[in-house]
Amino acid sequence: MTDPRATVVCAECALEETFATLGAARTAIEIHRTETGHDAAWELGRLASGVERAGDDAGVCGREACANPDSPLASRE
Ligand SMILES: [Zn+2]
Repeated sequence: MTDPRATVVCAECALEETFATLGAARTAIEIHRTETGHDAAWELGRLASGVERAGDDAGVCGREACANPDSPLASRE
């Protein structure tokens, strides 16, 4: 993760902003919450789908067919 990026999105308004760091994204969420009362959320741009897949890699589904041998998480267990 050499180029962390976070996109802050708000379901209650049209807010969608990309930040170079998670810290900046978190700060933006706090500010947005303070200013509007909205509960915005941040997504890890390119990692968004990876996080979901990490669940499968970690054996959430429990099926070998779902495992991804290429995943760095596969060797965790
Ligand atoms: Zn909002």
